[in-house]
Amino acid sequence: MSIDLHCHTTASDGVLSPEDLVARALTAEVKMLAITDHDTLDAYDALNTQLIQQQGLSLIVGIEFSTRWRHTGIHVLGLNLDPNHPQLQAGVSSHKQARITRLATIIDRLSKAGLPVDLQRVQQIAGDSQPGRPHVARHLVELGVVSDEHAAFDRYLGAGKVGDVKQVWCGLEEVVSWISAAGGVAVLAHPAHYKLTRTKLIELLTDFKVAGGRGMEVVSGHQDPEVTRQLARICRELGLLASCGSDFHRPGLSRELGGVALPADCEPVWSAWR
Ligand code: AMP
Ligand code: FE
Ligand code: FE
Ligand code: ZN
Repeated sequence: MSIDLHCHTTASDGVLSPEDLVARALTAEVKMLAITDHDTLDAYDALNTQLIQQQGLSLIVGIEFSTRWRHTGIHVLGLNLDPNHPQLQAGVSSHKQARITRLATIIDRLSKAGLPVDLQRVQQIAGDSQPGRPHVARHLVELGVVSDEHAAFDRYLGAGKVGDVKQVWCGLEEVVSWISAAGGVAVLAHPAHYKLTRTKLIELLTDFKVAGGRGMEVVSGHQDPEVTRQLARICRELGLLASCGSDFHRPGLSRELGGVALPADCEPVWSAWR
């Protein structure tokens, strides 16, 4: 029995449909799950939360917003929120629009860098999903520009590379305000991903708290136990709630759904939900 508050479906860049993801969570005996697609709540349209609850899985409504802090692109989870709140919905709509224009900008930049990329083909790869860099990465692989998606991020799409377009996202304060307005808890996703020094991470979390942020992921995907200890300590020192998530995108890659647990000395974000 486990709790997993971060994973993705075909509504963003995951490979399982919302139904298949829930089925996998039930098989893995996950007892509480938040689906947190990038800048969209679309997965929840396809799911009957009450029916899932009856099967023994508590489904927490969630989202993973793209945003920025200073010059760093960061991700903020909104957990346990009201998906119908008008302010949240307006924010989600603006980010969905931003994804569309951003994709065109990414393709334009890669094209100017001499790559034979095609916007329509990437839109086709994304299909009904919110388009993002992973769909561009798949296109770069099929073109033979890179050998795999990881290399696509390393060379063209990752932080600071030509295809990393992050100015389009609303700022941290605004994104947190949408989550708070919708009654949710804002949680800083995968704090170790941003490659910030401890001092800078504490500055980020301090700004995040001022904006209304209340939690941080102490455990995210495959993470070094020493990193978990450091994050747990920062979490306690700043009086934040702790969350854990696999950041599951597809079977066989990264952490399996539900394969995460919090250290005992953390205050879990879900303790107020019971
Ligand atoms: P986007 O939402 O378009 O900004 O794309 C971000 C997503 O790209 C992340 O959620 C990951 O799923 C994926 N991603 C980011 N960095 C890498 C990487 N180095 N290798 C593979 N996938 C990555
Ligand atoms: Fe992703
Ligand atoms: Fe993320
Ligand atoms: Zn994620």
